[in-house]
Amino acid sequence: MRKKILITGGAGFIGSHVVREFVTKYPEYNIINLDALTYAGNLENLKDIEDNANYTFLKADITDAEHILSIFKEYQPDGVIHLAAESHVDRSITNPTAFVMTNVIGTVNLLNAAKEIWKDNYEGKRFHHVSTDEVYGTLGEIGLFTENTAYDPHSPYSASKASSDHFVRAYHDTYGLPVVITNCSNNYGPNHFPEKLIPLCIYNILNNKSLPIYGDGKFTRDWLFVIDHARAIDMVYHQGRNGDSYNVGGFNELQNIDLVKELCKQVDEKLGRPVGTASELITFVKDRPGHDLRYAIDATKINKELGYQPSVTFEEGLSRTIDWFLSNQEWLNNVTSGDYQKYYETQYNK
Ligand code: NAD
Repeated sequence: MRKKILITGGAGFIGSHVVREFVTKYPEYNIINLDALTYAGNLENLKDIEDNANYTFLKADITDAEHILSIFKEYQPDGVIHLAAESHVDRSITNPTAFVMTNVIGTVNLLNAAKEIWKDNYEGKRFHHVSTDEVYGTLGEIGLFTENTAYDPHSPYSASKASSDHFVRAYHDTYGLPVVITNCSNNYGPNHFPEKLIPLCIYNILNNKSLPIYGDGKFTRDWLFVIDHARAIDMVYHQGRNGDSYNVGGFNELQNIDLVKELCKQVDEKLGRPVGTASELITFVKDRPGHDLRYAIDATKINKELGYQPSVTFEEGLSRTIDWFLSNQEWLNNVTSGDYQKYYETQYNK
């Protein structure tokens, strides 16, 4: 019988790359994409694979426990890769409850459904929870997050993800549920929703709008190309040790201001205009509350145990990302119409 894997949040940014990776690499699996299609979910992200015989889409909300259990009973997945989440830190500051509902309650609903249908017979089963390095809090100027770093979340988003990680671990320790967790650094790439730094800057450069940089721009993040995150999830889902977590990162730390300058330079070059044109749009805006100074991942464990390495450098990944946005401006215009415009106005034009 075919393996059935239920992927939640598959219409979102990272989820769509994970769905594509599994649908195309494993034609012998059935991939079920379960997504509520919130503002961040977009089936256009999967247009190229939507007719594949091993792909099914289900519109469902993970906060609806009854519906989720009925889907698990009907489809009987052997594995779950859970990415559905409210994912934007700024939105978590204005509406934390939505983050508790989806990220915490939604995760527990999925854990309960998996436990119920697998009924303690866990042979060949796996629940893979996709999480973030933001659960670890912030670093000073030196040091790296390892899998043993104590959790210390500061935003409602990271607090909700930390809580969901704890529940996933608790279901392993209490009920023996076969789980793995990945904690990944900041992703970027095609299909990234333009409320996040890189696609926001590309969109604003194309529309001659200012490029808002928080505080003094010295915030440091570790950046990973989204396709390399999808590859890491594939590896951990198949080969990770039950009950373990794996940090995923690019060993690629950048201050926000340096990242935006590199992005401006690449866009100017690709548009064939003088370098320095786009960077004139850089504007420093009031910092967000609870903003963590520095995140950096020690990805030694996944490298040593599973042989994982990112496949592209940051410069290559950024170039591919900009090329994608330049040739998919219709996608960009579609997702930035309507509600997004209202949200954008309230965030950056205070
Ligand atoms: P995203 O916001 O682009 O996508 C989230 C998806 O989840 C959307 O398709 C949305 O429709 C769906 N969703 C939201 N609420 C739902 C609900 N109640 N029921 C069902 N579906 C729902 O997010 P992303 O950036 O692709 O992140 C995916 C996962 O990876 C998240 O769990 C996030 O915490 C984690 N993560 C993200 C990053 C990053 O840099 N973006 C880094 C590390 C980990």
